[in-house]
Amino acid sequence: MATVTQTSHKNFIDGEFVDPVEGQTEPVINPATGETIAHVPLSTEADVDRAVKAARVAFDEWSKTTPAERADALLRIAEAIEEHADEISEIEADNAGKPLSAMRNDEIPAMVDNLRFFAGAARCLEGRASGEYLADHTSIIRREPVGVIGQIAPWNYPLMMAVWKIGPALATGNTIVLKPAETTPLTALKLAELAGEILPNGVLNVITGHGKPAGSSLVTHDEVDMVSLTGSVETGKWIARAASGSLKRVHLELGGKAPVVVFDDVDLETALETIAGTAYYNAGQDCTAATRVLASAKVHDDLVSGLVEQAHGLVLGDTRSADTTLGPLNSARQRERVEGFLERKPQNAEIVTGGKEPDSPGFFLEPAVVAGLLQEDEMIQREIFGPVITVQQFSDEEEAIRWANGTPYGLASSVWTRDVGRAMRVANALRFGCVWINDHIPLVSEMPHGGYKQSGYGKDLSIYALEDYTEIKHVMVNLA
Ligand code: NAD
Repeated sequence: MATVTQTSHKNFIDGEFVDPVEGQTEPVINPATGETIAHVPLSTEADVDRAVKAARVAFDEWSKTTPAERADALLRIAEAIEEHADEISEIEADNAGKPLSAMRNDEIPAMVDNLRFFAGAARCLEGRASGEYLADHTSIIRREPVGVIGQIAPWNYPLMMAVWKIGPALATGNTIVLKPAETTPLTALKLAELAGEILPNGVLNVITGHGKPAGSSLVTHDEVDMVSLTGSVETGKWIARAASGSLKRVHLELGGKAPVVVFDDVDLETALETIAGTAYYNAGQDCTAATRVLASAKVHDDLVSGLVEQAHGLVLGDTRSADTTLGPLNSARQRERVEGFLERKPQNAEIVTGGKEPDSPGFFLEPAVVAGLLQEDEMIQREIFGPVITVQQFSDEEEAIRWANGTPYGLASSVWTRDVGRAMRVANALRFGCVWINDHIPLVSEMPHGGYKQSGYGKDLSIYALEDYTEIKHVMVNLA
């Protein structure tokens, strides 16, 4: 298996790479091999403070740039990512345990497109109305940047989630301190290097480190105006509580437990390929993963056996090999977490296939299918975030909707049927930020991604993300 030469990294603050104030670093692991591939700063409150101060100073100028200037910067960052696509893909594949092909063919083109969308959208932002609502007075709506944004990224799509965060924030004139997840800091540092050539000093700062103290110091810092997190529900709740002290704005994307509601009249072959393809994609570490299948009686058994067959068709192994379709879990901790769910499996359920550690280095887990679970079982109620598909059998449409909605999450969902009326009825009844009909997982830059319920609030992608990173100001002019 290919290995990356070990490198030592620094934080990126005010346009330069700097050592952490207290001098501590920690190793970064390749989850496919268990080997150390780099060392990064273990940032503390002092590093956060330094980065926030740089972002604060940079805000004065950056917030006054025109949309065209900011769009130009984003387009150049997109181009730099495209130019360095091979190198970035290798770094991410090694650091996050992704098949290289997924990075090169799916994620890089998607994030380049996301940045180009935000560049264009930056120039089209508008207030809803301006005019005379009181005699002799003209009202104008201004959209202004929020200020310094603390952005906390997850480890499942490290660079793509960083792009989803920096794109709308930069486009609207904010400055940023970005903290990647502790296990996957390397592509964010590469992004800093590339964007550092394009953006003025201090506009984008990247510090590495853990949730506590690096992430938490960012959340509680007085000069941070808004915090954006993609991560777990628990961290989201902690951040919402911590941010309440200063009432700073919070933007939360907190994972999901996507129901996949399959009716009798489904095109089974397409459904099986899509469900398995998207449930096991990224080793199931995806907040929209199609891992909670709800099947009508007629198709239940075929779905279980078809998904088992799909699971057996996956190739685990060297993430740099073109044949590999399933990478490892992101860390030893995440694999233990997923295994914990399988070990606690209730009597009523059956692990039809998978769930074992293969005889290989790294944090791989064989893709699993679990049948017979009840609605209240832990594996149905909590996000597993691993290569595990559960299949439940529902008796009618009402029960399917009740079960689909019957978890604390509300991010994404799908309905599978050829009956248009039923598809629309169910889509309308599902309490999720996204419903796909006869598909699962495609995202486009123009459409919003974000949750209902405990999946959080605030949207990524789309014009709605840009709006989330702006303040609305009403200016009223007395014409007398
Ligand atoms: P996490 O929420 O702990 O970590 C996500 C990010 O938040 C990381 O950058 C982390 O350093 C930071 N963080 C953690 N505690 C913080 C704090 N108190 N203040 C500020 N920042 C903090 O997620 P995890 O524990 O690594 O993963 C556990 C579960 O989270 C997963 O199994 C999955 O359910 C969920 N998750 C969801 C997504 C998603 O895309 N929505 C991504 C990653 C994890």
